[in-house]
Amino acid sequence: MIGKYKGAEDGPLLVITAGMHGNEPAGVKALELLFKMLEVEPITNPDFVYKGEIIGIIGNLSAFHLGKRFISKDINRCWEPEFIDKIKNAQKSELKDEDLEIKEILDTIQHEINRLNTSKMYLLDLHTTSSDGGIFCIATHHKESIDIAHDLHAPVVLGLMDGISGTTLHYFNQTNIGIPTVAVAFEGGHHDDAMSVNRCIAATINFMRTIGAIRPEHVENRHDHILLEYCKNLPEVVEVKYKYHIEDNHVWQMKPGFRNFQVVKKGDVMARDNGQVVTSPIDGLILMPLYQSQGEDGFFIVEDRKIKQ
Ligand SMILES: [Zn+2]
Repeated sequence: MIGKYKGAEDGPLLVITAGMHGNEPAGVKALELLFKMLEVEPITNPDFVYKGEIIGIIGNLSAFHLGKRFISKDINRCWEPEFIDKIKNAQKSELKDEDLEIKEILDTIQHEINRLNTSKMYLLDLHTTSSDGGIFCIATHHKESIDIAHDLHAPVVLGLMDGISGTTLHYFNQTNIGIPTVAVAFEGGHHDDAMSVNRCIAATINFMRTIGAIRPEHVENRHDHILLEYCKNLPEVVEVKYKYHIEDNHVWQMKPGFRNFQVVKKGDVMARDNGQVVTSPIDGLILMPLYQSQGEDGFFIVEDRKIKQ
């Protein structure tokens, strides 16, 4: 647990996770700063009221300490209900690495739900990417998730959940949690870009405004500005059309220099995989080209759904 903040009025439980991938410290830093900001806000702004409670969690603590994406498996591909049920029913002593991390995340969240007797939960999952040039939100199929994602002021990526499975966005819903639950993921930029921290803070504060936990007049417009300025040349909504799956990332070499949302044409050379040239099968925009040694999604090709006016 990075921090916990309880507002003066009742409201939803907001769970913010960072470091689900241990090599993504920006979200963790953002949450550390956010809790400090929330502590001083009522002093500098006596009218400030927060509705509900926030908890901030480091998703993969052991990988975070090592600065690695994961120890034995990607925690953000493990959230399959049957598998999670097994972990729930297991003793901690029987579990290790990511399985143990998941158990601790679930226990922490369940404890808060029981204690608060809350009727609504939101999950904001903060990430960063190994590629540069783009921030974006990932929404579930839930309407409220899509609405929140639009309000964060970053491109919204639709259809990503159909190309991969077992992410937090797949799991955190009413069926699995037992109370109405809405989840959104935010990608704040490159892992090592200092501004990724600011963008994660800005997205988090915009999220709180959208769910009604803080009043719009208490949100400084620099939070909107940080994101709008960064996104002014990026598409508003894109849809995933293609994903390249890597069998063995030891033999994966992404062609250097790709940025998120860069235009690519069918036939463009994208990478080398086990010595073979990989080309793009379609025209579109590249998303999340993989420039790190761990991970199995080589790159995504997305299509702009709505050209900005
Ligand atoms: Zn991540």
